[in-house]
Amino acid sequence: MDVQPKASHFVNGAPMEDAAGEAIPLIYPATGERLGQVHAATEAVVEAALASAKAAQTGWAAMTGTERGRVLTRAAQIIRERNRALSELETMDTGKPISETLVADAASGADCLEYFGGMAATLTGETVELGGDFAYTIREPLGVCAAIGAWNYPMQIACWKAAPALACGNAMVFKPSEETPLSALKLAEILVEAGAPAGVFNVIQGAAEVGAALITDARVAKVSLTGSVPTGRKVYAAAAEGLKHATMELGGKSPLIIFEDADIEDAVSAAINANFYSTGQVCSNGTRVFVHRDLSAAFLDRLTERTARAVIGDPMDEATHIGPMASERQLSIVLGYIEKGRSEGARLVLGGKALPGPGWFIEPTIFADVTDEMTIAREEIFGPVMSVLGFDSEEEVIARANATEFGLAAGVFTRDLARAHRVIRALEAGTCWINQYNLTPIEMPFGGVKASGIGRENARAAMEAYSQPKAVYVGLTPVEAPF
Ligand code: NDP
Repeated sequence: MDVQPKASHFVNGAPMEDAAGEAIPLIYPATGERLGQVHAATEAVVEAALASAKAAQTGWAAMTGTERGRVLTRAAQIIRERNRALSELETMDTGKPISETLVADAASGADCLEYFGGMAATLTGETVELGGDFAYTIREPLGVCAAIGAWNYPMQIACWKAAPALACGNAMVFKPSEETPLSALKLAEILVEAGAPAGVFNVIQGAAEVGAALITDARVAKVSLTGSVPTGRKVYAAAAEGLKHATMELGGKSPLIIFEDADIEDAVSAAINANFYSTGQVCSNGTRVFVHRDLSAAFLDRLTERTARAVIGDPMDEATHIGPMASERQLSIVLGYIEKGRSEGARLVLGGKALPGPGWFIEPTIFADVTDEMTIAREEIFGPVMSVLGFDSEEEVIARANATEFGLAAGVFTRDLARAHRVIRALEAGTCWINQYNLTPIEMPFGGVKASGIGRENARAAMEAYSQPKAVYVGLTPVEAPF
């Protein structure tokens, strides 16, 4: 499959190239093959993207919400029509199995564009009666938004940021991760095809310097990042310096708590999805699996039996469950954590090894007898490594689940619904599941607390995050003055 894009960037409604920018290779993670390259944005490209977004934003905001929404809805339709090609491209870029990308990447992006397409016309203010006089509010867009993505869900992340931003009347400059530059370019093309005016959504490539150049520009009113906590700290600090709005979708080390009365097959399914989907490269993964000691042995038996059946291999084969890691660097990070788990005394019950190349494949790995102090229980690994920890009481597991700087997600499995809701209330996490895990429908707000993030994506919450109220006092009564 030819993945080489026409040009590295998409600016002002058209592909743009500037070969003076540093080359970024396009590598297929399943084979390590070089498939092509793009170039990092030069200063001139960054300037062109920001200038075109600034110029386009006012006209876009002046359209009705219905008109803007129609563009987003059309883009959703085009994405659905091209789902197969977009999914193949995403698989080539990330290494994620086609069985996943066909249903979870472009498809989630289309849902998002459709949802916010419908929502665009509902962005309204309110009227406030003041006993004679009154006030009203107008919900206005913020202006130009800079968005920076991670490499695990490139298309989904681009859509999750672009759709609500554009629905509200903002323009956007999006920088994908340099590991996965391709699908955001497709989104930009599709939006123009769907009727978006030139400049409303621009994509420029590059690493941290390009991201930093966007965040510090005076024309940018809002910054939205999906990335790791260390990057989040830097980007949030830079946004604060410019007093810009910020949404930070960062990392996690989320607890998945399985009580003794849980349905064991469902709990095992959830633990599998929460650790091995996308080869474990999911921010909200429930990587600390707390299992009540009464259930531990039975749970581990079923978990290892079922995980051993996972098909690892060619991500383009629809029968494959687990593809390679997205990059060689990520593979070596994950292998380093597995080594730490072993050396700190966790019991390896399955996996633990990289597969012989080519490609950056690694076995789904399960550690049991993990304790809270171990590195694998404290740090985000971002790979297929599950830690199973035992617990005895509800109070104990809540305290241990919360004893982390992260707070992205949490899950609880129990048949006792009163306990489920009680425990969820006590957990410090922004996105939670009861008897389910890692489903993130567009209708539900998504995001973290504590170091896992600021603000929410998706749902009505995202419309609020990409707009602000202007308050207007209307005097209908005589003006009183003291003299
Ligand atoms: P990184 O934090 O390394 O990078 C994220 C993005 O920020 C990349 O585009 C990167 O550029 C860019 N970047 C890095 N440094 C700076 C800087 N100083 N200024 C501006 N931009 C910068 O994350 P990864 O790409 O490695 O993604 C994995 C992380 O993302 C995990 O921690 C994961 O949990 C988190 N994540 C969070 C999600 C959420 O919604 N909460 C969802 C998905 C992932 P480049 O890489 O090109 O150099």
